[in-house]
Amino acid sequence: MNTQNKRQPGRPFTLSDKGRPILLLSLLLILIFAVMIWNAAKLQEALSHSTQGYLRDVTSESASDIRDAFQSRITNLKMMADSLSQIREYQSSLALTEFLERKAHILEFDRLVLINHEGSVIASAGDLDPGADSGGSPNAAPSIQIPPEACVTYTGGKYLLYSTPVYRDNGPDELLMGTRSTENIQDMISANSFNGQMLSCIVDNNGRVVISPTDLKPFLRLDDLFRNDQNQEVIADIHRMQADVKGGREGLLKFTSATGEKLYLSYNALHLNDWFLLTIIPADIITRGAERYIWQTFAIVGVTILFFTLFLLSLFRLYGAHKKYLEQIAFTDPLTGGLNNAAFQARYRSLADSLKPNTFAIVFLNVCGFKLINEQYTTEGGNRLLCHLYRTLERSADHDREEFAARGESDHFFLCLREHDPQTIQLRLDQVIREINASQAADLPALPITVRSGVCLVEDPGQDITILQDHARLASQNPTPDHSRLCAFYDDSLTDRLRLEQELNTLFDSSLERGDFLIYLQPKISLQDNRLAGAEALVRWNHPVRGIIPPSDFIPLFERNGKICALDRYVFTGICAALAGLKRDGREMFPVSVNLSRQHFRTPGFLDDFARIAGQHGIPRGIIEFELTESIFFDNRQIEIVKESIRTMHDLGFLCSLDDFGAGFSSLGLLKEFDVDTIKLDRSFFLNMSGRKAKDIIASLVELAGHLQVRTVAEGIETPDQVEYLRSIHCDMVQGYVFSKPLPIPEFMARYLS
Ligand code: C2E
Ligand code: CA
Ligand code: CA
Repeated sequence: MNTQNKRQPGRPFTLSDKGRPILLLSLLLILIFAVMIWNAAKLQEALSHSTQGYLRDVTSESASDIRDAFQSRITNLKMMADSLSQIREYQSSLALTEFLERKAHILEFDRLVLINHEGSVIASAGDLDPGADSGGSPNAAPSIQIPPEACVTYTGGKYLLYSTPVYRDNGPDELLMGTRSTENIQDMISANSFNGQMLSCIVDNNGRVVISPTDLKPFLRLDDLFRNDQNQEVIADIHRMQADVKGGREGLLKFTSATGEKLYLSYNALHLNDWFLLTIIPADIITRGAERYIWQTFAIVGVTILFFTLFLLSLFRLYGAHKKYLEQIAFTDPLTGGLNNAAFQARYRSLADSLKPNTFAIVFLNVCGFKLINEQYTTEGGNRLLCHLYRTLERSADHDREEFAARGESDHFFLCLREHDPQTIQLRLDQVIREINASQAADLPALPITVRSGVCLVEDPGQDITILQDHARLASQNPTPDHSRLCAFYDDSLTDRLRLEQELNTLFDSSLERGDFLIYLQPKISLQDNRLAGAEALVRWNHPVRGIIPPSDFIPLFERNGKICALDRYVFTGICAALAGLKRDGREMFPVSVNLSRQHFRTPGFLDDFARIAGQHGIPRGIIEFELTESIFFDNRQIEIVKESIRTMHDLGFLCSLDDFGAGFSSLGLLKEFDVDTIKLDRSFFLNMSGRKAKDIIASLVELAGHLQVRTVAEGIETPDQVEYLRSIHCDMVQGYVFSKPLPIPEFMARYLS
């Protein structure tokens, strides 16, 4: 059985059910991440700004230190030159040399040389011969132009050359030069800030390195630094820097080194010659630490979000599983394991939008006499039968065309078929019933069964499914007039009828009180003497608005709701009153039969009430006959009650007739089994009397009844030919339009009793 697999009871969980919160959650997470990234970017920007500011401060301070170092040395030299200029004449060259040596020692010059404007050394003191390195030895100069101001120069090698003019009366006359190793300046520009990652050097305005931190590894040329950077912005920055350097302005730029490292380059004027202090540090030197924390924060938030998402997902799954479980309970028929009515309705609703008008039908199926089956084969047997029914219906549904079946309640089933042609539907249902009854299963009770079905051909798929189901159910309750078909189709007249029934139902009590129910009498004529042998009391409803309503419009309704018993009693009382009236008038009573609904048999001792009424009206025994319709005699549960009731009727002085004999099962056994006084041969016997066989059946029935001393009444006789034939076979009485239609009591009396 593929029921469970194919099952889609309700509207499936759409993305909008489950996906909306997930979508919202995802958007929230994306938003959180976006805010975090934006924050991180802003943080980095702020850090970058502070790095630049910090770098500017550090480098400008370092440039100022270096400048101070140069200046102090120049100042010292200038002070010494000033001292020398005060000396008019050098006492001796030895004393001068000693002076220079002492000063060189104090002022930390490697060598001090005093030369005259011809370039001759007047005196020199110190350990080293700077000329060997500098290539610009004061000894070697043949004649010199003495500069008017003190200055420092670098001519290559390890030494810096400081010089200052010594003024005599007639201007700068001598030149005091001091050499000093570049070491202490190298120390100053060596990396001691930023964890040793700062790289500094002194360059001239052509970008040529004047002093680099070490001699061994000359500082890179600027060209080398920028060699691989194609970035237009950086190239523009470099040009700006070159212009700045030429113009003696300070600045900072960011660039990517040949090795791919992001670097800051700061250039600070030393205000000494055309020298600049260049400083390079990695761009992320300050942000590096912060970045680690940014990433850590990212990781923590990411992991938190991940856990949160996993938690929510598992919550969703749990919720989904729970919902599925509840759905399973809500939409599954516990007996068959298939769809229940809620599932049927939900499934229909989910399909309704896609269904075209006039393409499908809702079918209601109801097992006839299922209560009896349950009683006879126990509830378990009944349940097995219901499961078998459901499985067969399920199999018959074409799932590819989205047909489906469900059990409503007890023995009621529904089918949604993709058919709209009544004939095709009829054929398909016949086939299903055949399959149900063809089962060979040993544990199935009561096969073959009879299934009554009602079909609602759906014109508007948008109509509520409960209404469509009601229509199908209503159609099933409306058996075709000749009872030949077990499948009925709904049409709007059924609803009209339902409405009428409801109206009649509400009106019943007041109508009964007002005496709107009229009693008609139809004569039974004896075929022996063509005289009145009796009459049948038949009720009519004189509706205040609708006029005379025939019993076929309200008897079945009152049979269903039990009101028929009150109506029968009303008719019975009316007949008793009419007969009592005859007696009062000194006229002879005649036998009258009244119809007795099967509903009376539900009330034990109901006949006492009738006997009391008859007694009150002084009706003698043998005048009133109760007509019991044939179907009562086939109700297994009531057989004993009916037998007993017939006995009681006789005891109480009533007669009993078997009505509508031949309309249904027509069992002759009934005559033997039940002690009835009369049988009323149903009108259907005489509808086609042309054949020999039909006539023979009627003749033998009448003969048999005669043998059993049961009188025969032929009902619904309309032609004199029928009368003649019935007379020839010794049928006792005839009741039919051939003699008279049912007549109001006064009219009847006037016609037959005068
Ligand atoms: P029924 O008991 O079989 O009554 C006979 C029906 O056949 C009556 O219909 C009568 O008018 C009709 N009939 C008589 N002769 C002819 C004929 O020659 N041709 C045709 N075509 N019909 C003929 P009615 O009066 O409409 O009653 C219909 C049914 O309603 C009755 O069938 C009976 O079952 C039920 N009924 C009527 N009155 C009462 C009542 O007071 N109590 C109960 N329980 N049922 C009643
Ligand atoms: Ca009758
Ligand atoms: Ca009848």
